[in-house]
Amino acid sequence: MMMDLDRFKYVNDTLGHPIGDLLLRQVAERLRTTLPGDSDLVARLGGDEFAVLLPSHDAAGAERIAARILKALELPIMIEEQPVDVGASIGIVMFPHNGTDMNVLLRRADIAMYVAKRANSGLALYDERHDDNGAERLSLMSELRQAVEHDQLMLYYQPKVDLATHTVKFVEALVRWDHPTRGYVSPDQFIPFAEQTGYIKAISHWVAEQAIRQCAAWRAEGIELAVSVNVSARELIQSSLPDTFSALLKKYGVPAEMLWIEITESAIMDDPNHAIQTLDRLHALGIRLAIDDFGTGYSSLSYLKRMPVDELKIDKSFVMGMVLHRDDETIVRSTIDLAHNMGLKVVAEGVESEFVMRRLAELRCDLAQGFHLSRPLPPSKLEDWLRE
Ligand code: C2E
Ligand code: CA
Ligand code: CA
Ligand code: CA
Repeated sequence: MMMDLDRFKYVNDTLGHPIGDLLLRQVAERLRTTLPGDSDLVARLGGDEFAVLLPSHDAAGAERIAARILKALELPIMIEEQPVDVGASIGIVMFPHNGTDMNVLLRRADIAMYVAKRANSGLALYDERHDDNGAERLSLMSELRQAVEHDQLMLYYQPKVDLATHTVKFVEALVRWDHPTRGYVSPDQFIPFAEQTGYIKAISHWVAEQAIRQCAAWRAEGIELAVSVNVSARELIQSSLPDTFSALLKKYGVPAEMLWIEITESAIMDDPNHAIQTLDRLHALGIRLAIDDFGTGYSSLSYLKRMPVDELKIDKSFVMGMVLHRDDETIVRSTIDLAHNMGLKVVAEGVESEFVMRRLAELRCDLAQGFHLSRPLPPSKLEDWLRE
């Protein structure tokens, strides 16, 4: 039987990317050594997300291997003699049982991966029932719809602290879902799902309106905080995005300069020409733009130069790794220099210690965001924190 592994191989190769994250490389390495057969069976779907392809017809066999993978990942990964917890999500597909076409297999692995993520189970075997018309997806979709209608979504705000003046002029809005029966659902679990199903549009509109309204409410109390919202790939290519934002800013009387948009590198690289068009229009309105998770994608500097960017956000994997790993500090330092050479501001996210905060200040990083400074907070708690 023909087995075209090129696509898996290709994704697999990107693991060797020089600024790929050390921890993720170790997870991939461990997956590879746990699995039978050759190393072409593991692909990185993005972030800490992996696809595993098992050449098997036999579900029981696949389950045994899945159990083995889980066990292998239970052992903490050691990085410079420090144990680090692995939060990877893995979707498993069987070849040829779940399909023979690589695109179909990858998509199904992706679906299984989301199931794993949502169930917090680490991994999931692909199941027919998970697929587009599956009951699981339908139920989550209708729940998402209700979430917006029934006020189950909330926005929390995390401050970005100026490292030179220790003042706060910027906050990032992060969505929270307080589900009546599932409990607290993390945005990492439902945003990707909402993107796949197209329901992201309603959520994003809710987020934008809520954030802009909050910004106006703060201004009325004399608190000047620019608010940033996260925009996903799917929305970025929507030509209506600038009009939506512009209408909301008008409705609440908020100057466009008070609104920031955070977009990941990978969202831009999905369709760079289209993305740049939308970004240009947003920028023309006066809205500011930040590149999120910088260093994890593969955007080329030539695109960066063509985009109306105001700020780079260094991904938290590098910032958190600074304590343990010299490579990560090198990446952080280079990103700060790169940003400054291009006339951009630079933010480090994931600042979890005083040590890292000091080091970032020494490296002339402009802003810091992270649990060490403040967790994301509901508006009233943030106001208390600002008064402290
Ligand atoms: P992100 O934009 O990279 O947001 C940063 C994430 O890191 C947030 O997770 C934040 O709570 C967390 N974080 C902040 N400081 C620290 C720290 O010191 N240590 C650690 N370990 N984590 C820290 P959260 O809120 O769970 O959001 C996860 C992702 O979900 C976000 O990543 C963003 O991509 C997405 N997201 C959140 N809200 C929205 C939204 O309204 N719209 C869209 N499209 N995506 C959103
Ligand atoms: Ca962000
Ligand atoms: Ca980020
Ligand atoms: Ca992220």
